[in-house]
Amino acid sequence: MRLSQFHLHTEKETPAEAELASHRLMLKAGMIRKLAAGIYTWSPLGLRVLRKVEAVVREEMDAAGAIELLMPSIQPRELWEETGRWEKFGGQLLKIRDRKDAEYAYGPTHEEVVTDFARHELASYRQLPVTFYQVQTKFRDEIRPRFGVMRAREFLMKDAYSFDVDAEGMAASYAKMHAAYTRIFSRLGLRFRAVLADTGAIGGDASQEFHVLADSGEDAIAWSDTGNDNDAAGYAANVETARAAAPGPRPAATEAMRTIDTPTQRTCEAVAELLGIPLQRTAKSVAVVGHDADGGPQFVVVLVRGDHEVNEIKLSKVPGLGEYRMATEAEILEHLGSEPGFLGPVAPAKPVRVVADLEVAAMADFVVGANRRGEHLAGVNWGRDLPEPDAVADVRSVVEGDRAEDGGVLRLMRGIEVGHIFQLGRKYAEAMGCTVLDAAGKAAVPMMGCYGIGVSRIVAAAIEQNHDDAGIVWPEAMAPWTVAVCVINPKNDPAVAEAAAALHDELAARGLDVVLDDRGLRPGPMFADIELIGIPHRVVVSGRGLEAGTFEYRARTAAEAENLEREALLERLA
Ligand code: ATP
Ligand code: MG
Ligand code: MG
Ligand code: MG
Repeated sequence: MRLSQFHLHTEKETPAEAELASHRLMLKAGMIRKLAAGIYTWSPLGLRVLRKVEAVVREEMDAAGAIELLMPSIQPRELWEETGRWEKFGGQLLKIRDRKDAEYAYGPTHEEVVTDFARHELASYRQLPVTFYQVQTKFRDEIRPRFGVMRAREFLMKDAYSFDVDAEGMAASYAKMHAAYTRIFSRLGLRFRAVLADTGAIGGDASQEFHVLADSGEDAIAWSDTGNDNDAAGYAANVETARAAAPGPRPAATEAMRTIDTPTQRTCEAVAELLGIPLQRTAKSVAVVGHDADGGPQFVVVLVRGDHEVNEIKLSKVPGLGEYRMATEAEILEHLGSEPGFLGPVAPAKPVRVVADLEVAAMADFVVGANRRGEHLAGVNWGRDLPEPDAVADVRSVVEGDRAEDGGVLRLMRGIEVGHIFQLGRKYAEAMGCTVLDAAGKAAVPMMGCYGIGVSRIVAAAIEQNHDDAGIVWPEAMAPWTVAVCVINPKNDPAVAEAAAALHDELAARGLDVVLDDRGLRPGPMFADIELIGIPHRVVVSGRGLEAGTFEYRARTAAEAENLEREALLERLA
């Protein structure tokens, strides 16, 4: 590949609107261009990286025995009605109408479609186990799309779905995917952890998330560190799950919660006090805890403030206690045991829209909850600036109590969720009447698993982990090219241009993904570009080098360049 024939468009200035390093560097390197909120074009450069990630994902899916198919992104409402998710999925589901007024959703996930495929295509237990997968564009109408492709609305996902006759088979399919995910993230050169996760809105029996470790991550994770890199052997959980497992009761919290029936502002103050965290009045959201007078289900209400004004109320049961569902404002007030004036100080100027809560954690600056009996706090998602004393204490008690037999040290870190695997059980197959004939000739509902990887998010997550002042530092497997051959003064020095082209061709013939920088830029700007776009190996071909019989070689991570003779260079790049 010749860079003069490619479309490379880097920016000199650092884009002001980007908060995260990955977002900034992807814009600066010209990998993506924003079309609308959370919707991006992948430039030719960005696409090369995206395709590299996809290739590794595909290879490992195929190696694990999963079979690729491609399902439509536009999905009819009727299918989603069958599982009840047309309503339950909430605001993230983009609903559209065609000219005949028929309703569709742009697929945020494909459990319904794959189960429909299975109920028509799978007839006998002899066809099981089977795992189907696709790499496909998803759309989720995220309330706060941000950080570029990290939390986009349109994004690329690999999603896989397994079908087994029984729970044992499902567990085996799940284990295979777990192993494949571990290979994928290892091959991509990422530092990651697999952690226990709440099954949340997707539902099911067991679930793990794969997190790329990065301070900028939106999630908090905890694990028992036994000293092995990327080791999933010890206890590991996202903090919500670890806290839910923390031993109760917490009498002080219980008492305080029971007496919370004051206006929202005071409720928030009380919650903040019992959590021992300062109330952030400028926070974009606040959380209050409510409960039935007779100790019925607990609810978490999150008031989201856009510009200090309440514009939405989110309601959910505490994670892990059951289904999320839509609630009305009246219901919220009822559950909070309050009269309409309850929302007083932060009462909305505009009509309040109540939406089903699938994204409480993503939205709130903090969320608090209690179990059914109000015994202990069940989940916390603190904002970046909030201290986390209680969460740390709870997680520590879990990791260091019943579970630290592996002798590990508690680690609390932030992570970026790049993969998520679930044992779904019969939930979807049952709701949609998907059966196969078992060995006895009886109709049996298969057990499913579902497995997602955020292909496009991985690109951003990798940059969060791998960058320096000069730009991106790609792990080899994801680099747009692994070697750049830079030509000094190609226009005025035909011998140099020729030698560089010959080297390029030789490296390409040896199977290296090499690019020739024959744009004729001055060395400074040329090297700056090559460093910014993160090419792991740079070779400079110059007149001086040719005279000495050497090429200048520098690894992206090396402090110094070195002059190598041809054979030594080829060996280094092999
Ligand atoms: P998050 O907690 O970050 O909102 P999720 O739990 O809603 O993610 P899943 O339903 O588990 O996402 O989807 C599988 C994978 O798709 C996630 O692990 C993540 O890597 C990716 N993903 C989800 N939402 C987005 C998004 N808005 N932009 C980019 N990737 C996403
Ligand atoms: Mg989400
Ligand atoms: Mg998640
Ligand atoms: Mg998830």
